[in-house]
Amino acid sequence: MADAVACDAATDFDAVVIGAGFSGMHMLKSLRDRLGLKVRVYEAGATVGGTWYWNRYPGARCDSDAYIYCFTWDRQLLQDWNWSERYPEQPEILRYLEHVAKRHDLKRDMRFNTRVSGAEWDEGARRWVVHTDDGETVTARFLIAAVGSLSTTNMPDFPGLETFGGKWYHTSRFPHDGVDFTGKRVGVVGTGATAVQAIPEIAQQAKHLTVFQRTANYCVPARNGKVDPEVTRARKADYDGVIRRIRDSFFGQEHYFIGKSALEATPEEREREFDRMWDAGGFAFWLANYQDMFFSQEANDLCADYIKRKIRATVKDQAVAERLIPKGYAYGTKRQPLDTNYYETFNKQNVLLVDAGTDGAIEAITPTGIRAGGRDYPLDIIVFATGFDAMTGPLKALNLKGRDGSTLDQQWKDGPRSYLGIAVAGFPNLFTITGPQSPSVLSNMPVSIEQHVEWVSDCIEAMRRDGKTTIEASTEAQQNWVAHVNEIVNMTLMVGANSWYMSANIPGKPRAFLPYLGPAGVGGYRKTCDEVAAKGYEGFELA
Ligand code: NAP
Repeated sequence: MADAVACDAATDFDAVVIGAGFSGMHMLKSLRDRLGLKVRVYEAGATVGGTWYWNRYPGARCDSDAYIYCFTWDRQLLQDWNWSERYPEQPEILRYLEHVAKRHDLKRDMRFNTRVSGAEWDEGARRWVVHTDDGETVTARFLIAAVGSLSTTNMPDFPGLETFGGKWYHTSRFPHDGVDFTGKRVGVVGTGATAVQAIPEIAQQAKHLTVFQRTANYCVPARNGKVDPEVTRARKADYDGVIRRIRDSFFGQEHYFIGKSALEATPEEREREFDRMWDAGGFAFWLANYQDMFFSQEANDLCADYIKRKIRATVKDQAVAERLIPKGYAYGTKRQPLDTNYYETFNKQNVLLVDAGTDGAIEAITPTGIRAGGRDYPLDIIVFATGFDAMTGPLKALNLKGRDGSTLDQQWKDGPRSYLGIAVAGFPNLFTITGPQSPSVLSNMPVSIEQHVEWVSDCIEAMRRDGKTTIEASTEAQQNWVAHVNEIVNMTLMVGANSWYMSANIPGKPRAFLPYLGPAGVGGYRKTCDEVAAKGYEGFELA
């Protein structure tokens, strides 16, 4: 950019991007190769991949169909790359991202094994001053947080963990060379989407597996497998159509609600539709169900009842089935886990379910295992699948100081406050890719990532054209956005669940809905963002 010429070539950048996952890789490509900016990417991991670099637990695979869980901006690669199955495993996705990095020569502008330890806005220079944990300090006109929504580990403070004589791991920081569970007594803590993928895999290897469940989940079958080559051919022939549809869709998927109330359908018709979605597998049951499922408790109960019947029919021991049946919250208000033999796993002789509700909650980790409900469960290995400090956690961890030295901790003490989920008042020239109060985790992530990256790139390009150096969300626009986000979600059943969407998984985290559930989904949100840009970045102050 014009005044970057006067800066120190080695340490001053047009933009610093934090993170080299899907977001950071695309952001670099767009800013460097489309706009010609000088960009530096910092990444804590040893290579690209982000979530796919860190999450290496057994069974880790994507939950969106692979043909749309990828970059759409490299049209040739969409034709050339062939996924091995509907939901590829973590190593295959990481291989894909490595391939993209090589193909677009991304790594030359990336610094790996380097964590951004802090950054402050320099009002005089109108630049961010960015510090890394290896002692480097650089400056940048723009700071782009591409840190992911689920990258800050939630490791609960279980008393006695330090006394445990065996080995323990968190799923989001699993050893790169894997863990051999053969002949071991293993405990898995948690039954979220991660555990639901990991439990069936671990149960196959371990001598004995004890699953510690705090809240039962509604799981639906993934139905992973090879994709019919004819289907793949048709998708490749129509990628323009696919891309248009997922961009305009509600959830960044080719899933569409049934345009009527579940209560209007006859019981036979409903059962047929439920069977169809169940048999299709994947997110259909969650995201292509009756349109009032997220609003009407009565409609929701019908969907929930179907899954409860499936659990009772699959799990042989009805006492175990009852423990696995979710209670106290509406179906779909927590992230839908996709399962492959999850419920079947509880029919195995070597698998035991310890449910906090009936058997008692975890009290402590002991030198020999876990104590729950006054009973000791001996273990050699504990796997904590306890999730993340979602969305706000990774941003707060950056230790950013905005205008007047204010921090995100201070700004977000009552919950996240952003404008469009992409900017925060008081933090000029900071963009948060798939940040809190954007659709992000309620969508197929690559679709939302690409939308934000394109919007940010267009914004920076427009600023350059108009000779502007700073952009900052106005407090008023931010207040309106926060009110809008909350007003919409308050109309749904989502607010009733103790989910990580509601910030309920982290003790002390203010209860607030973290993503944005727009009335027209990601397609509508895209239009809103485009309108903001078309009106000269309405709600932002440019200088
Ligand atoms: P999660 O959904 O937050 O689940 C964490 C589990 O640990 C829950 O069962 C939770 O119980 C339990 N837990 C947390 N703290 C506990 C404590 N102190 N004592 C006992 N149990 C405790 O985390 P996750 O399974 O890692 O999934 C997080 C998100 O990552 C998913 O929702 C999804 O968005 C994403 N993900 C994506 C994929 C994919 O696309 N392939 C795969 C896995 C995960 P409660 O329910 O009672 O809180």
